[in-house]
Amino acid sequence: MSKPVRTRFAPSPTGFLHVGNVRTALFAYLFAKNQKGSFILRLEDTDRERFVDWGATHIVKSLDWLGLKPDEGVWYTETGEHAPYVQSKRLPNYQEFAEKLIKQGNAYYSYITPEEFQSHKAAAIDTKKPFVYKQNMEPEEHSKETNGYPVRLKVPAGVTKWKDELRGEFETKNELIDDFILIKADGFPTYNFAHIVDDYLMKITHIIRGDEFISSMPKYAALYDLLKIDRPTIVHMPPILGPDGKKKLSKRDGDVDVLEYKEKGYLPEALVNFLALLGWNDGTEQEIFSHDELVKRFSLDRVQKSPAVFDINRLAWMNGEYIRELPTDELLKRLEPFLPASWYKHNDYLTRVVELDKDRIKKLSDAEYLMEIFFTEPKVDKELLTKKDKPEDVENWLEVVASDLKDVEFNHDVIEKALRKLAEAGDINTGNLFYALRIALTGRTEAPGLFDIFATLGKEESLKRLETAKNLL
Ligand code: GLU
Repeated sequence: MSKPVRTRFAPSPTGFLHVGNVRTALFAYLFAKNQKGSFILRLEDTDRERFVDWGATHIVKSLDWLGLKPDEGVWYTETGEHAPYVQSKRLPNYQEFAEKLIKQGNAYYSYITPEEFQSHKAAAIDTKKPFVYKQNMEPEEHSKETNGYPVRLKVPAGVTKWKDELRGEFETKNELIDDFILIKADGFPTYNFAHIVDDYLMKITHIIRGDEFISSMPKYAALYDLLKIDRPTIVHMPPILGPDGKKKLSKRDGDVDVLEYKEKGYLPEALVNFLALLGWNDGTEQEIFSHDELVKRFSLDRVQKSPAVFDINRLAWMNGEYIRELPTDELLKRLEPFLPASWYKHNDYLTRVVELDKDRIKKLSDAEYLMEIFFTEPKVDKELLTKKDKPEDVENWLEVVASDLKDVEFNHDVIEKALRKLAEAGDINTGNLFYALRIALTGRTEAPGLFDIFATLGKEESLKRLETAKNLL
């Protein structure tokens, strides 16, 4: 029987979690869930210079918002048999593995000063050779003093083979793999070393991570070999390109803090759906997938290796689709942070307005603008009002409409009938009449259907607005 699948997301708390990182987390999550395995959240906080103390909370909050709860590891409270899942609390583990390598003669305390290191590097640049740092002395000579010196790996001669699940098999001559640092002078391990130790101890079966690590694969492969560790399956994600399809996705194109998407009014389920399709598809034309469908259909062999293009318009479209499908009371709940609290005092009215505008809301943050015409009397622009017809005609229509509607029941069908009859009787172009009425009621050319606007505003408010508009003329 094969081992239970265990994937991990291993962010570094060095700043915001960007959408690119979240897509990596999502693929690791979906694969684990699809395989009925476990998804683990581990914090890689060994870069003490870039560490920020709010990073961990931000990561947890972001994943929680998206519904990507780990089965094990860091969360509001940490759980799991491999705790701690925070690297800074696991230093003895790395030390133990480093000592094993030192004993084997595959690692050493390195006494080279940063200045000497830089001068080696500069020399390589001068001779236009790739810089591969290697020490010539025997390892034993380098392991006499230990305190305050970094530990470097010494890779024996030979070749190192490695495989990326999407991209295939590769091999690298060991002479190209430098003596890279395993444990830094501050006692903290490098990412290069720590993730291998942790993935092994945490029984990770599949590493799914960003493609920026591909170039370091020979180093990792050499380490797996020297530690005699079975390698997990390794998948580097397809890159994400900006909307021009050429450059890597940048901050300007939308690779920002994922919680900014929350603030902008995207639904987490829409963002998850959108990110899942950045580099994966199920082989059909289907675009909208629920969380459960994604879990059911996800497979690594349908992850593409070619770059995915980040198209924010597609996200906006998807978000609109999700909003449209939400039950109204759920939508009202989600809109709460985006609308004035006072609107919620008129719940039935607000419900009607939301139902009217539901199809037009692409982001929750659009709603206030779209709906405010039902809560505050709009400023009507005289030019706009009379754009299609002479002021005296419009004035006349507003007066007739007001007097005709004074005594009718205020619902969509009755109003429609009354207005059409009136247009016919007065030989008025209905398009022009309805245009003027829409402007008079809302001040806008874009608004819900005219008869719905009347019916929703109600008689008193509608007549008041017609009167105000008429007084402009
Ligand atoms: N700490 C690394 C990062 O945040 C994790 C990479 C990996 O998933 O192995 O980029």
